[in-house]
Amino acid sequence: MRIVLLGAPGAGKGTQAKRLADRFHMRHLSSGDILRAEKSSGSDLGKTLAQYMDAGKLVPDDVVVRVMAQAIAAPRQETGLLLDGFPRTVPQARALDVQLEALGAPLDLVAAIDVPESLIVERITGRRSCPQCGEAYHVRFLPPRQAGVCDKCGSRLVQRDDDKEEVVRKRLAVYREQTEPLVEYYRRKDAGKVLFFDGAKAPDAVTADMVETLGRYQQSEG
Ligand code: AMP
Repeated sequence: MRIVLLGAPGAGKGTQAKRLADRFHMRHLSSGDILRAEKSSGSDLGKTLAQYMDAGKLVPDDVVVRVMAQAIAAPRQETGLLLDGFPRTVPQARALDVQLEALGAPLDLVAAIDVPESLIVERITGRRSCPQCGEAYHVRFLPPRQAGVCDKCGSRLVQRDDDKEEVVRKRLAVYREQTEPLVEYYRRKDAGKVLFFDGAKAPDAVTADMVETLGRYQQSEG
């Protein structure tokens, strides 16, 4: 299966993407992770990326499309593809369509995770992660045993620059303006391929909904 996962920042895309990719043997490509890795490499491209990412702005389409096209084209064992965070604008979606058509591997489904904005702000601003081992926490929903300290390796937890409230509000506005129109873009192409999931539920319940629906789709496709 080749799937695009849509949802505002903080809708739980990353968590669900990892679980679904495991369950259905899909390659999980997160544009945020790929761009953050480039950013922390300190390369010239990384420095340019930081200017956009730390301000909660989208990285320009041509840059993201180039980086993601390379990742998508890289040969891998997994047959499926789960795109998380890409595309985020209509021009990116068009570029992706062109690439996948050329590869003879068009999208099967678009899965949109819906969450009210107030809940998103609470979820994102409470996120903390361990800079050493990558373990993820939430000050309210998934607190470490000792505040601010990683359970696994004892390092001091950090908050991503773009998870600060002011930046989160900006990212949500960007999402509404630039990414939400993608739902309509994909619905106009084929409304039957766009599926909606209630992301206000607990993460495990969302996973259960998604696994059931995607499993049914996979079976119907033989
Ligand atoms: P994420 O982890 O998906 O929230 O992405 C973090 C940041 O990376 C975003 O706020 C953007 O600055 C940048 N980014 C990730 N994916 C894209 C994309 N498809 N288009 C433009 N910018 C992106």
